[in-house]
Amino acid sequence: MKPSEEKLLVRGVNWLGDAIMTTPALLRLREARPQAHITLLTPAKLADLWRHHPAIDSLLTFQDPDSPFAIGRRLRRASPSIALILPNSPRSALEVFLGHIPHRIGYARPWRNFLLTQRVPPHPDEVRMRKPSRREILRRIAHPARAGFSPPPRAHQLYQYLRLAATLGAKAEPLPPLIAVTVPEVEAVRLRFGLTSGAARPPLLGLNAGAEYGPAKRWPRDRFVAAAMELQRRTQCHWWIFGAKTDEPLASGIASELASAKTGPPDSVRCLAGQTSLRELCAALKACDLLLTNDTGPMHVAAAVGTPVVVPFGSTSPELTGPGFPGDPQHRFLQAGVSCSPCFRRECPIDFRCMHGIGSEAIVAAAMQALRGDTQAAGTLRPW
Ligand code: SF4
Repeated sequence: MKPSEEKLLVRGVNWLGDAIMTTPALLRLREARPQAHITLLTPAKLADLWRHHPAIDSLLTFQDPDSPFAIGRRLRRASPSIALILPNSPRSALEVFLGHIPHRIGYARPWRNFLLTQRVPPHPDEVRMRKPSRREILRRIAHPARAGFSPPPRAHQLYQYLRLAATLGAKAEPLPPLIAVTVPEVEAVRLRFGLTSGAARPPLLGLNAGAEYGPAKRWPRDRFVAAAMELQRRTQCHWWIFGAKTDEPLASGIASELASAKTGPPDSVRCLAGQTSLRELCAALKACDLLLTNDTGPMHVAAAVGTPVVVPFGSTSPELTGPGFPGDPQHRFLQAGVSCSPCFRRECPIDFRCMHGIGSEAIVAAAMQALRGDTQAAGTLRPW
């Protein structure tokens, strides 16, 4: 690094999906400060996500048990002059404060404002994801006309990060989220999981039926299986079944059920759950022609590597945390249109109507449209 270069630190966010939604702001920051040396402070579990990323020059990582004092010491050694703090937590501001970084920018929030030198007020378009009580949920159901959820047009979470980056001169206009994956990485993962290269090949579809956040984000397993069988019957596709280590029983059960249904070619179903590093997950999702998934981190990764996604949304809102560039017609979201949604809860306190109201045939229709590259939505599909 040249001594004259401006040293800028970005305190990154802690979750995979959120990290992807910060990438438009990071790219805008790079565009606004092409000469700056940008260091990302990130949880070690996400470090591989940033390999080859054009917005980042270097990484500083931390583990869960690291104290803010230990992280502060690391920051003092790196000695950046400006810190942009993307999370809203008091802890993230404290780490940067203890790093003695002279200029500390973040959103104004309780218990941390005194740690910042530039407090950015919340934007009127910001929607707080508050979990309603069961009583409020029942009230929304009883009075659906009063319950309507209509967020402002720029309420998506990626705008929150863009507005923060704009304090350093970055454009606040969005870019598509981006994770950089190389062709050799994709080829390596295809070979590892038994696919050869070649122009004439059947479609490769991914399926991700878990959701770490909780059951309220999980479309019913049997519907995933029914949709996957029907798509295989129609397209003779190969399936890669994704999931975290904790999803292995779910993913391997789906894989065996699909394989034994014999709706596709022999050996056309592979279970990848718990078998990939984060980097391999990115490459494997890029290898897919489409991902059928719940609202999860891999959903955001797939969109950021350019793979279309089809997503049943229940307790959460695509207007706030949907994948990809807002309005990108290659992705498809389905919602049941129930008045209690979004509730942002981990578990449904009533009858899970938001997910039970989405049928497998609607998902199949949306997936077929996406595979054909149709940009026109139809049926119960509700693009944003
Ligand atoms: S049905 Fe869905 S949106 Fe409604 S309360 Fe249950 S989880 Fe939340």
